[in-house]
Amino acid sequence: MLDLTYEAPKPKIIAGAREDWELVIGMEIHAQVSSESKLFSGASTGFGAEPNSHVSFVDAAMPGMLPVINEFCVEQAVRTGLGLKAEINLRSAFDRKNYFYPDLPQGYQISQLYHPIVGEGEVLVELGAGVARLVRVERIHLEQDAGKSIHDMDPANSFVDFNRTGVALMEIVSRPDIRSPEEAAAYVLKLRQILRYLGTCDGNMQNGNLRADVNVSVCRPGDYERFRESGDFSHLGTRCEIKNMNSMRFIQAAIDVEARRQIAILEDGGTVTQETRLYDPDKNETRSMRSKEEAQDYRYFPDPDLLPLEIEQGWVDDIAATMPELPDDKKARFMRDFGLTDYDANVLTAELDAAGFFEQVAKGRDGKQVANWVINELFGRLNKEGLSIDASPMTGAQLGGIIDLIASGDLSGKMAKDLFEIIWTEGGDPAEVAAARGMKQVTDTGAIEAAVDDIIAANPAQVEKAKANPKLAGWFVGQVIKATGGKASPQMVNEIVAAKLGL
Ligand code: ADP
Ligand code: MG
Repeated sequence: MLDLTYEAPKPKIIAGAREDWELVIGMEIHAQVSSESKLFSGASTGFGAEPNSHVSFVDAAMPGMLPVINEFCVEQAVRTGLGLKAEINLRSAFDRKNYFYPDLPQGYQISQLYHPIVGEGEVLVELGAGVARLVRVERIHLEQDAGKSIHDMDPANSFVDFNRTGVALMEIVSRPDIRSPEEAAAYVLKLRQILRYLGTCDGNMQNGNLRADVNVSVCRPGDYERFRESGDFSHLGTRCEIKNMNSMRFIQAAIDVEARRQIAILEDGGTVTQETRLYDPDKNETRSMRSKEEAQDYRYFPDPDLLPLEIEQGWVDDIAATMPELPDDKKARFMRDFGLTDYDANVLTAELDAAGFFEQVAKGRDGKQVANWVINELFGRLNKEGLSIDASPMTGAQLGGIIDLIASGDLSGKMAKDLFEIIWTEGGDPAEVAAARGMKQVTDTGAIEAAVDDIIAANPAQVEKAKANPKLAGWFVGQVIKATGGKASPQMVNEIVAAKLGL
């Protein structure tokens, strides 16, 4: 766990309102379970396949077909629960949520309304060094995804693709502990990071593998704190739910514009109606989709085709024993063992691959220096070329080799950057390439002194100027380095020039 003392950020007050209002936000995140096959059938979950090519008789809801629970999906949900430090319910149950929609052949979605597999957990959301909020997770339940209706392929007809039908989703429901658009985005990012570390959801928002329903209400300053402990938020402002958001930017914009809409209503003496809304990014507004009054009665009832899901504590313990190190722990360890700053540790633990890369290079080397090279040079270069770390043309061993040449005094920082370029484009062993190209800084005191003496003797006027203004000593340093073909150790030249000029 991060052994840092955190300060809670101040709740966001909406600018431009006549009165003081605070935001209250709760999120329901749908995370697609990383699994080869679906929640209740053996059909593939592969993305981007020919429409309707991954549809079993169960997914198509053929009469008489029976769902069979996919043990791996259950394991993934348990793993996720453990990753969020949540209680795991050894007994959970599946319910039918009944509604009609063309992309739902069964006429109901199998979900877990009354007895979810995962109970109370938490997510630490950091908003800067030493500033964080603990967002409580209320529950995680397993449910089926629906298919996809396609309305834009033909002017007269709609089509439906059932490939996604029955794919396992984890619905991760937060308490309304999020207090600003920035926190909402940070929460999604943190949750996604944890899921990716766990390998339980790939977090790909573009493919819709992670989508958020965002509940927004506004309240008077202090009201939220009064209800936080009791867990009863029913006395807070009426909320609206913005459905199906899959972009960090839109989530933030939607919350902001929705809060302003609610405040305008309340300040005009009106009341907010609880309803489901959709965000329109083109107009930057939310629009009513359906109000609570018109909401369908889903007629939830326990699915008679499925027995209650009973799992054993021993099985949960086995999963717990294979848990990877989680982001907060990794970050704390990087700060402690490698002396990294909060910022560097955040950057280096954002993605598991990058963290692994850093750690491989940092082992036995100066962690802070390795962090600088990985973040500034390697990530900088990868970003520029649009590459991910696993496609990096430079290996950890190569980068480590370059850093070793600096540590041994063979290369100056400038030379090391040149070598980085060469290794990046041409590959090779850094020490060998440096030797073959004669890249080695001159650290021979006598040779540097002789070069300094020559420059001083040839430039008496400059010497007088530098003595009057020590900043001008840099000119000598430059001349000496140039005279040695760029090979003199800048650090040594600096020292020797200063000594010889009597600065
Ligand atoms: P329902 O039973 O109507 O689905 P829940 O209590 O399950 O409602 O809450 C759904 C989501 O709405 C949760 O993420 C919760 O945190 C959030 N929520 C509840 N009350 C509020 C509120 N006053 N403002 C914002 N979000 C809220
Ligand atoms: Mg709910």
